[in-house]
Amino acid sequence: MKSIHIDLEQPGLVEETTNFKAGFAAVIGRPNVGKSTLMNELLGQKLSITSHKPQTTRHRIHGIYTADDHQIVYVDTPGMHLGGQKSINRYMNRAAKSAFAGVDVILFVIEAGRWSKEDQSVADQLKHAEAPVVLIVNKVDKFKQKTDLLPFLQTLNGKVEFSTLIPVSAHKKSGLDLIQKEILKVLPNQTPIFPEDYITDRSTKFLIAEIVREKLMRMLGDEVPYGATVEIEQFEQEEGTGRWAINALILVEREGQKRIVIGDKGEKIKQMGIDARKDMIALLENRVHLELWVKVKENWSDDERALASLGYTESHN
Ligand code: GDP
Ligand code: MG
Repeated sequence: MKSIHIDLEQPGLVEETTNFKAGFAAVIGRPNVGKSTLMNELLGQKLSITSHKPQTTRHRIHGIYTADDHQIVYVDTPGMHLGGQKSINRYMNRAAKSAFAGVDVILFVIEAGRWSKEDQSVADQLKHAEAPVVLIVNKVDKFKQKTDLLPFLQTLNGKVEFSTLIPVSAHKKSGLDLIQKEILKVLPNQTPIFPEDYITDRSTKFLIAEIVREKLMRMLGDEVPYGATVEIEQFEQEEGTGRWAINALILVEREGQKRIVIGDKGEKIKQMGIDARKDMIALLENRVHLELWVKVKENWSDDERALASLGYTESHN
């Protein structure tokens, strides 16, 4: 974090400072308020997977935005939710909580017109946070008249401590510039945290597995997804052609779930493959050969050891 500032009063003294700003912005909130959608929009690139299902984001992921004079490292988190007894839920809550330690600003995302117990639980935990809290009211597009939103906004004052409130719509890309401005106000002066060409702290292989998981979450009804996970068995680029050969294994908990994932005559898994491949081509900017497989792995989501073997451990988080 070095650059030079010469103190004119005492020409002999050289102090370290810089005009560049850099720091971390944690994106937190209960599941399904649109945290991942918002981060992707702020980055202008799809990194974090999204769906209408509450537990889509399982891992913490950094999305890095670098401009000429600043770098914002967004930390997308699994939503915090109440009463999770299974190992996977405990893991996700830990990942969400540790995300706001040591960050420069907290973006607390809620949904326009809705304040639930889970929102209140997040708000309560934020009372101990050291960084300033920007309250982001997302999905304002659900209100046709802006004035209809005002009564809701007024109720927020007593419920949560925040430095600024910004109503936005991640879908309509409205209000995003205000978020960036607010972050820049509090980012410390320091040189970039990540190299300028980095877009995430996660490996490409991780992003590939997440793409498959997103299709699974989106494609299937409520029957399956929470028990399912994805392992990448092959991820190789062919010499000469540059084409990627990818083998992904979808692990489900029960035989019945396997049948659902595969679908009638294989139509479900086929469609997932088509959708996933499209996203992979966009990410890798090359041709992709994708194979999807489904396997039953019993009780993985409630077994700490099985979680560790799949990368759900604190050190990976
Ligand atoms: P997360 O769990 O907080 O990360 O939420 P996601 O980003 O996965 O989004 C949850 C759902 O809300 C998805 O179906 C999104 O398409 C939807 N969503 C996100 N942002 C907006 C928005 O600005 N307006 C509306 N109407 N829906 C949104
Ligand atoms: Mg998410």
